[in-house]
Amino acid sequence: MVTKTITRLDVPGPKARALLARDQRVVSHAYGRVADFVMAYGRGTEAFDVDGNRYLDFMSGIAVNATGHSHPHVVRAIQEQAEKFIHVSSDFYHESWIRLSEKLDEIAPFEEDAVTFLGNSGTEAVEAAIKLARYHTGRPQFIGFMGGFHGRTLGSLSFTASKAVQRRGFMPVQGVTHIPYPYSYRPTLAMQPGDEDYGETVVSYLEKTVFKNLVAPEDVAAILIEPIQGEGGYVVPPASFFPLLRELCDRHGILLIADEVQAGMGRTGRWWSIEHWGVEPDIVCTAKGIASGVPLGGIIARKSVSTWPTSAHGNTYGGNPLACVAALATIEVLENGGLQNAAEQGDYMLQRLAEMQTRHPSIGDVRGKGLMIGVEFVQDRATKTPDTRIRNRIVELAFEHGLLIMGCGNNSMRIIPPLTISRGEVDEGLHLFEYVVSLAEEESL
Ligand code: PLP
Repeated sequence: MVTKTITRLDVPGPKARALLARDQRVVSHAYGRVADFVMAYGRGTEAFDVDGNRYLDFMSGIAVNATGHSHPHVVRAIQEQAEKFIHVSSDFYHESWIRLSEKLDEIAPFEEDAVTFLGNSGTEAVEAAIKLARYHTGRPQFIGFMGGFHGRTLGSLSFTASKAVQRRGFMPVQGVTHIPYPYSYRPTLAMQPGDEDYGETVVSYLEKTVFKNLVAPEDVAAILIEPIQGEGGYVVPPASFFPLLRELCDRHGILLIADEVQAGMGRTGRWWSIEHWGVEPDIVCTAKGIASGVPLGGIIARKSVSTWPTSAHGNTYGGNPLACVAALATIEVLENGGLQNAAEQGDYMLQRLAEMQTRHPSIGDVRGKGLMIGVEFVQDRATKTPDTRIRNRIVELAFEHGLLIMGCGNNSMRIIPPLTISRGEVDEGLHLFEYVVSLAEEESL
């Protein structure tokens, strides 16, 4: 195991400070930043700032750099495509768009043939999914989940229920009813006698309360859910939840949309996180990790659901050539070991973090799949009182000691390194993480 000496960096350095001052004047303050990290370049799991400080990257540009920074295979694909043409518009055809759609059909988490619609971001993927669901079913209503994050354009924002500030003042569109997410560590609903687990409690609440008192199921076009909740706290549903939800959808002709923008494309050690429950969705939303950082998002829909007619939906950049070749190269890297590495390093990390939990009273819960891992911080394990302050302090201390990491939910940390991370880097990063957790705990005494 790596036991490198840990030093405190003098950050932000002079070059970073000068750039931060310029940023303050001209870049919208609507963007919330995690730390004063000003990037110069990166390779794999390493990122360097403009003053030459080295960081280990445990956040991958919010789960985007699946293949790490500037993977040579991805860079080469982008360079070669850029030499040929950068854009042609969605009014025409080109091969890498078709190849990528064929590949997504091959890896889609359902048996039926898949049809792909590509745009540029996660929020656009969600907009496409909800428009298609309404179009296909002719129904107006949706079910979303508390703590969910699906984007910030008005349609997707109407489902986002992770932080009130993201909705305040924006008047989301109507037709979305939010129910509690199956968050077993902090259940909102009381479990009923006979419930197999908290997943059954949530599905029963939807069926016996929401569908009876609030929204008729025959008015519901789709249930939109993150199979593992991301921004809301890296929450993994219990075993019964997805099979019961699928069954409920089937009974009422409701579509199941899996928002795999954060959890998909191999992050959990499988192509799609919903595969961990053996359940097939009707529409999958994808973005983030799909093209290693070149903006790309889209939906993969069952052919029988993709019934909208020509010109019903579209965008100028759909099937952008640079994004398509970056995605194809990303998929090749993942097929050639990345996916397996995510599963193996993820298991190892979960085990190391569970051991860490025994040494650190501030760690209330450790959970995740593959390299999508959440660590929840509490003031006291027995009462589970959330400790947002220590979580935020750990993010700051990590930045000062060469580890890029970010929070999620109210009091959790997300650990989402590139899927190509080596065992040595896992050890180094966890060593740093434990060191800063110890520092933050000492400060709290
Ligand atoms: N859906 C999920 C699950 C996400 O995590 C995000 C972004 O964090 C989005 C949608 C929105 O993606 P984008 O920021 O690319 O619009």
